[in-house]
Amino acid sequence: DSVVNRIAAGEVIQRPVSAVKELIENSLDAASTSINLLLKDGGLKLIQISDDGHGIRYEDLPILCERHTTSKLSSFEDLMSIKSMGFRGEALASMTYVSHVTVTTITKGQLHGYRVSYRDGAMEHEPRACAAVKGTQIMVENLFYNMTARKKTLQSSADDYSKIVDLVSRFAIHHNNVSFSCRKHGATRADVHTVVTSSTLDAIRSVYGVSVARNLIKLEASDNDPSSVFEMHGFMSNANYAAKKITMVLFINDRLVEWSALKRAIEIVYATTLPKASKPFVYISIVLPPENIDVNVHPTKREVSVLNQEAIIEQIQSVVESRLRSSDE
Ligand code: ADP
Ligand code: MG
Repeated sequence: DSVVNRIAAGEVIQRPVSAVKELIENSLDAASTSINLLLKDGGLKLIQISDDGHGIRYEDLPILCERHTTSKLSSFEDLMSIKSMGFRGEALASMTYVSHVTVTTITKGQLHGYRVSYRDGAMEHEPRACAAVKGTQIMVENLFYNMTARKKTLQSSADDYSKIVDLVSRFAIHHNNVSFSCRKHGATRADVHTVVTSSTLDAIRSVYGVSVARNLIKLEASDNDPSSVFEMHGFMSNANYAAKKITMVLFINDRLVEWSALKRAIEIVYATTLPKASKPFVYISIVLPPENIDVNVHPTKREVSVLNQEAIIEQIQSVVESRLRSSDE
């Protein structure tokens, strides 16, 4: 039933930024090295994403936007060791229930690409042959056009756009082997624009600016204890960095996630060790055994739960604290 589908879709795609996150993850899963975004009206009128990834095969186009169509799971065991970011095959389908989705794609070795539009989980017409260079372009138009209540709560497109810029910035510093751009329709300059860099620090400098990059301390930690095994690296701001708000960028196994318990723990260390610089910039990349994380707490895959989180958080806290103290001497 289409109303039920629409409500479920609205759960997965809550704001334009949630659609953008899913689209970027799909592009990354397709091994793209260049990801470019164009937004109209904070993404409500148009989200356009172009990548240079492996593309979508012709025979996959008819079912691409059906729920639970995913090319990323081949067995139950895969579920336990998911490496790619998507695995539920729900994002694109959801978008077709609350917007108008057009896909243009070409796979390797093909002379031309295909373009097809989707609505309510199905193709609107047969795929049409078209010119295409490499990879996939997806346009999501008129998001929430059929959800009057949702549209009313989303008045501020400026707010949506800044959330999207913030999201792209986060992906851009973690995936510094991919170039990203994010531009508002009609603007001549992009708001995020990165080139493929050799280091995280270069990427942070290009996205967040020199004033952030020159006030960073390198972070590293790991544990071999089987119950709390983890590896971590990243950067965090020092005593000279003063900002009005906290920026905490966290990736676990290359997924952008929220882990509130860790965030709070780090905030506490800053507040007690560096009260004058207690609004830090922190970028952390953690690698954990996939079976120790549960990423499926919510369809938006944001908040993670981690096995033995207290032990891991305590260790990270103590590394953060000792690095802050030694840098402040
Ligand atoms: P999931 O990512 O969970 O598999 P999605 O709904 O996000 O589900 O995407 C469905 C499928 O569409 C993916 O499994 C993938 O095969 C294909 N796909 C989506 N976007 C792209 C892209 N940019 N490049 C290549 N394939 C894509
Ligand atoms: Mg996906």
